[in-house]
Amino acid sequence: MRIVITGGAGFIGSHLGDRFLAEGHQVVALDNLITGSLANIEHNMGNPNFEFIHHDVSNFIHVKGDVDVVMHFASPASPIDYLKYPIQTLKVGAMGTHNALGLARAKGARFVLASTSEIYGDPLEHPQKESYAGNVDPIGPRGVYDEAKRYAEALVMAYHRYHDLETRIVRIFNTYGPRMRLDDGRVVPNFIGQAIRNEPLTVYGDGAQTRCFQYVDDLVEGVYRLLNSDFSEPVNIGTTREISIKEFAEIVNKVADSDAGIIYKEELRIQGDPQTRQPDNTRAREILGWEPVVPLEEGLKKTIAYFRKVS
Ligand code: NAD
Ligand code: UDP
Repeated sequence: MRIVITGGAGFIGSHLGDRFLAEGHQVVALDNLITGSLANIEHNMGNPNFEFIHHDVSNFIHVKGDVDVVMHFASPASPIDYLKYPIQTLKVGAMGTHNALGLARAKGARFVLASTSEIYGDPLEHPQKESYAGNVDPIGPRGVYDEAKRYAEALVMAYHRYHDLETRIVRIFNTYGPRMRLDDGRVVPNFIGQAIRNEPLTVYGDGAQTRCFQYVDDLVEGVYRLLNSDFSEPVNIGTTREISIKEFAEIVNKVADSDAGIIYKEELRIQGDPQTRQPDNTRAREILGWEPVVPLEEGLKKTIAYFRKVS
């Protein structure tokens, strides 16, 4: 298959590209490098099955030749990034999704949207099932990301229903691993960076807010299975091991062998920061036979080793 991955030089997009190349497919990575990096794909440069096109997918997308799959993974993804690029985030969720869908339709390709647990906002249902419509403040600071993704999902379903396009929607929960940017502001690179510098970890608020952290290899496996399924409704992909951010900080300090402790930074907590988040991943288990397999401590060890190498 020939697979176009928008955001192919990003954290998740580059891991997806590696997986498809390893399975013998061809990959075309489209990226404008706004939050990604060529370093994430430099090991594939020179591979005849790999092509990189520097392009902003919020503008019309030209790809020559046949395309079997379009995976739309382009978007600033960390809260720091989408607060820095609010308009670009809205555009890539709206126009970028439209262009990527248009490409898929023109080529007769299958389409996969990278959606997010953020479409549930600060959830009032716990854990979150795919049927939950969410609790999002459209004009809050996180609205630029959440609403862009909600619009993107609506557009994907419209192409599916009205153009009979083969589509998939993956609602990705917090994912971490090598190739995250050390300065992307998300909790995993922040904590690991601080721990390897032997600085205290900055917990925003009281640290009682919860998340579930999945290792990138588990996510890639889930996306791969979803692509190969015939299921067009959204599917949550995430682990169910829910921990508070305070507990997460303690685990990172332990795994990184840092004794610098924790400091609390109430003022750095972004308004609308979800208090809880945990996927109900029954659908992924039943439909895809998927289950996350990498324990947090093991994934963290690999990620810490990566950050030690690049920093
Ligand atoms: P990332 O920032 O590492 O990757 C995003 C990539 O998209 C970057 O390489 C960036 O340069 C590119 N990009 C952004 N706007 C673009 C545009 N207009 N044209 C072309 N390229 C553009 O982030 P990530 O964590 O790899 O996220 C990838 C996707 O997964 C995003 O759509 C994100 O919303 C989604 N997602 C990620 C997580 C997570 O925990 N990592 C959770 C939920 C959803
Ligand atoms: N967070 C934190 N310290 C940091 C960075 C983030 O305590 O240095 C918190 C943040 O307030 C949120 C959680 O960690 O409650 C996860 O934040 P992240 O930016 O990784 O992604 P989110 O899940 O909010 O999209």
